[in-house]
Amino acid sequence: MTIDRVTTCTGCMMCLSSCPVNAISVKDDILRGKVPWIDYSECIECDRCIRICPEVNDVVKEKTGKVYAAFNKKNDAYMRASSGGVFACLAEYVISQGGIVVGAAWTNNKNVEHIIIDNLKDINLLQKSKYLQSSISKTIFLQIENALKSNRLVLFSGTPCQVAGMKRYKKKYEDKLVLLDIVCHGVIPGRVFETYIDYLENRYNIDILSFDFRHKDRRMGQYLNKITYKKKNTMRLCEYIGTWNMSSYFYTFMMGYMYRESCYQCKYSTKERVGDITLGDFWGIKAIRPELHRRHGLSLVIVNNELGNRVMTNIMKSIEVHEINDERALADNPQLSHPCTKPNDNEQLMQEYKKKGYKAIAEKYKRARSGRCKSKCILLVKKIYYFGK
Ligand SMILES: Cc1cc2nc3c(=O)[nH]c(=O)nc-3n(C[C@H](O)[C@H](O)[C@H](O)COP(=O)(O)OP(=O)(O)OC[C@H]3O[C@@H](n4cnc5c(N)ncnc54)[C@H](O)[C@@H]3O)c2cc1C
Ligand code: SF4
Ligand code: SF4
Ligand code: SF4
Repeated sequence: MTIDRVTTCTGCMMCLSSCPVNAISVKDDILRGKVPWIDYSECIECDRCIRICPEVNDVVKEKTGKVYAAFNKKNDAYMRASSGGVFACLAEYVISQGGIVVGAAWTNNKNVEHIIIDNLKDINLLQKSKYLQSSISKTIFLQIENALKSNRLVLFSGTPCQVAGMKRYKKKYEDKLVLLDIVCHGVIPGRVFETYIDYLENRYNIDILSFDFRHKDRRMGQYLNKITYKKKNTMRLCEYIGTWNMSSYFYTFMMGYMYRESCYQCKYSTKERVGDITLGDFWGIKAIRPELHRRHGLSLVIVNNELGNRVMTNIMKSIEVHEINDERALADNPQLSHPCTKPNDNEQLMQEYKKKGYKAIAEKYKRARSGRCKSKCILLVKKIYYFGK
C-alpha cells in the first residue's frame, strides 16, 4: 500500500508533512480533488506517510460529552458567524493567552486555505462556513509544530478529517493543542467552486469580489448567499443576495452532489468525535427548547473531554449558554450518526462535469428546480435586490 492508492483519501495532507525527502506533492484531480502524488525516484520507502495517514490507521475518538446550545453575546461577532458564533469566542480566548488559531479563510474570491492568525482583528477571516474544501499547506504544519515547541497554545479548527490528521501532535503536546472539529456534511473539491465563479463572471459579464455562503439578513434570516461584484469595466459595487436554493452551487452542495469520495464513506460522521470540542448548527433546538431558538442561528457545542471542558469554562462569560440534557439534541444533525448519502446520479453528473465543465451542473440545477420553489425564490430576490440569476 502506498498513500497515492488510498481510495478514501480525504486530502488532509498529513502525509505531505511527514515525508523526510519531500517526495510527495499535491495533484489536483478534476474529479477527486487534491490528492497526494509520490515522486518514486525520490521516495526512500520509509513508510512514514502510510503510518501517519488517518484513513489507513485507526483514529482515537472521544466519547460524546456535555451538549450545549450557545451563542456569542457580541452581536457583531454573532452576525458575522454561520451559526451562534462560538468559534470566535474560542479564538479570542486562545489569542488572549498568546496562542495561535488555525482555520479556513478565503485567500481570494474563489479559493479557501487554512491560515494561522494570532491577532484579534483577524478572527473574522476564519469566521463563516465556506462550503468547499480548504487546503492545508506543508508550511502551515511546520508553523503549528514550531508554535507548539515554543509552548504556545494552538487552536486548530477544521473538518473532522483535518482534525484527525492533527491528532498525531496530541501525544507530545496534549494540553497545548486544542482541536475543534465541525459537524461536517461533506466538501466539494475547490476546483468546482472556481469553475462556478468563472461561470457566473462570464455569464453576467461581472467581476466577483467576494462570496458569502451564510449571509445573515435582519429581514430574510440566514442561509443566504451574498455575492459582492462589479460590472466589468465599471467601478460600481453591487450586492446580490438570494436564498441558498437560488445558487446552482449551493443547491448542489446541499443535495450532496460532487463531494469527495471519502465524504460518502466518512468515518467521522459519528457521535464520538475527534476534536476536544465540536461545533455545529443547533437545528433541533426548536423541537426541544423552542424558547432558545434564534432566527440568525444557534451553535451546537459538544464538549468531548477534559481539555475541551477547561477551554469552554474560560469562554463562559462571553457566551449565552444552556446545557441540553435531551437525547433528541443530536438527532437533527444527521452527520452525527451517518455520512451523507451519495445521490444515485452523482457519478453521471461528475462525468458530465468532466466533459462540459460547470455548465453540466448549471443545466442539472435548472432541470431540478421545481416550479413551486422557483416562483417563491425569484419573488424574494426581485423585490429586494439588484440582480437575480
Ligand atoms: C463544509 C462544511 C460542512 C458543514 N456541515 C455541517 C452539518 O452538516 N451540520 C452542522 O451542524 N454543521 C455543519 N457545518 C458547521 C457549521 O456550519 C458552522 O461552521 C459551525 O456551527 C461553527 O459555527 P460558528 O457560528 O461557531 O462559527 P463560524 O465563525 O461560522 O465558524 C467558522 C469555523 O468553521 C471553520 N471552517 C469554515 N469553512 C471551513 C472549511 N471549508 N473547511 C474547514 N473548516 C472550515 C473555520 O475554520 C472556523 O473554525 C459545516 C461547516 C462546513 C465548513
Ligand atoms: S488521507 Fe491524508 S494522510 Fe492519507 S493519503 Fe490522503 S492526504 Fe495523505
Ligand atoms: S515512503 Fe517515506 S519517502 Fe516515500 S513518500 Fe512516503 S514518507 Fe516519503
Ligand atoms: S464528510 Fe468526512 S471526509 Fe468529508 S470533509 Fe467532512 S470529515 Fe472530511
